[in-house]
Amino acid sequence: MLKFYNSLSHLPEDYKSIEEGKTGLYTCGPTVYNFAHIGNFRCYMFEDLLKRTLLYFGYKVKHVMNLTDVDDKTIKGSQNAGIPLDDFTKKYKQAFFDDIKTLRIIPADVYPEATRHIPEMIEIIKALFDKGIAYQAEDKSVYFSIAKWPKYGQLVHIDHSQMRSGVRVKMDEYAKESVADFALWKAYDENDGDVAWDSPWGKGRPGWHLECSAMSSKYLGKTFDIHCGGIDNMFPHHADEIAQSEAANGCKFVNYWLHCAHLMVEGQKMSKSLGNFFTLRDILDKGYTGREIRWVLIGAHYRQSLNFSMKALDDARTALQRIDTTLQRLKEAAAKPDKGIDEAKAALDKAEKQFANGLADDLNISEALAAVFDLLRELNKLMDNDALGGKAAQLALDTFAKMDTVLAVFTPDSGDSIPQEIIDLANERQAARKAKNFARADEIRGILDAKGWIVEDTPNGPRPKRK
Ligand code: AMP
Ligand code: ZN
Repeated sequence: MLKFYNSLSHLPEDYKSIEEGKTGLYTCGPTVYNFAHIGNFRCYMFEDLLKRTLLYFGYKVKHVMNLTDVDDKTIKGSQNAGIPLDDFTKKYKQAFFDDIKTLRIIPADVYPEATRHIPEMIEIIKALFDKGIAYQAEDKSVYFSIAKWPKYGQLVHIDHSQMRSGVRVKMDEYAKESVADFALWKAYDENDGDVAWDSPWGKGRPGWHLECSAMSSKYLGKTFDIHCGGIDNMFPHHADEIAQSEAANGCKFVNYWLHCAHLMVEGQKMSKSLGNFFTLRDILDKGYTGREIRWVLIGAHYRQSLNFSMKALDDARTALQRIDTTLQRLKEAAAKPDKGIDEAKAALDKAEKQFANGLADDLNISEALAAVFDLLRELNKLMDNDALGGKAAQLALDTFAKMDTVLAVFTPDSGDSIPQEIIDLANERQAARKAKNFARADEIRGILDAKGWIVEDTPNGPRPKRK
């Protein structure tokens, strides 16, 4: 049984999907006005771990992630670039898709774009008008009246006596202390340039919160299973989504809300506004791979803040190289005669259980990774004693492959696998050593060194390794 901490109840809860064996998952996506930074990717990575865990446990997952392609930031960006909004956002949508591929994040089933769902948003506003919850103010914008919705603010503690009902916030982002009537439809003003849609309330554009209410329900139904985002999205974004959806639809919006803690840099949230951020591309340019970044981002429990450092990436490289070495040994052992099947089966069974139990317990990644490391140690011990081979080694490889459907870190990036040229040189060096042609062996070592490789002696013979 899967268990998740539900931000709605503030408690860990057994997971029960609406339809048996299926899950509807909505995750708030990027605002496509710039390259996403790795803080954003921490959030998308946690969602990927969640989705892969659901798949591991046999659920069919329908995953929807919105692309915010109209808001203050995208409009301003397109104006600064002097190009139409759609052309401006197109570049960053593509960059986002490229980045998630690098990070081995499984793409969502649907990526609805806000600009393509204006009619659905207008329908929600109409329903809120019918119920007397939406109103048009003097500035022609349409607002949600929090006074008309006493259930406002379930996700976060709101001091209802401090609520400024009747006071309006037009900005999409505001502090909890200034909770007030929020914008559903923003009346056109000249800052919006040529970005505007017609509506029953005049020309304008939707508020940010409304897009997630409209697009999640369109693709997943009015009530669905899981909604995720970073903790900074809990207020006001998710609080406003719940209010709009439940008020318009007259039913519960989402059963489980999961939020991830922030990626930090020296004690502060990594964010564009603080300027302390790295895009994925910044880190790839420093020579790290998508797999190494993935390892760092999944390594801490999603509800704990994670401090980012280059040292963490170096540690990831070391850890992954160790894993690669053992997996390579297992491949070689699988080609040998059968040996150690009982010992292997016992170790694999124990590891698989620990791995599954860890993930089922609110995605306890430390427990799942401990299972991986214990298993690697156990198998290395057996191989050191030449007590594992054939079918037993193949079973171990199958177990790692199954675990990797969740972790997605056990296969090297094409950039960090060993090129054939290097393998050939290492073999030639070995042959030269056997033939006692040490001059040639040393010469080849020099060539490998110049290419950035060293040759390590292992129980299964010499193996090239990046310096
Ligand atoms: P934004 O583009 O700012 O709306 O952010 C997109 C997603 O990334 C949201 O779910 C945010 O909560 C999340 N996010 C932003 N900064 C961080 C961070 N430093 N750590 C983790 N998640 C973040
Ligand atoms: Zn959202």
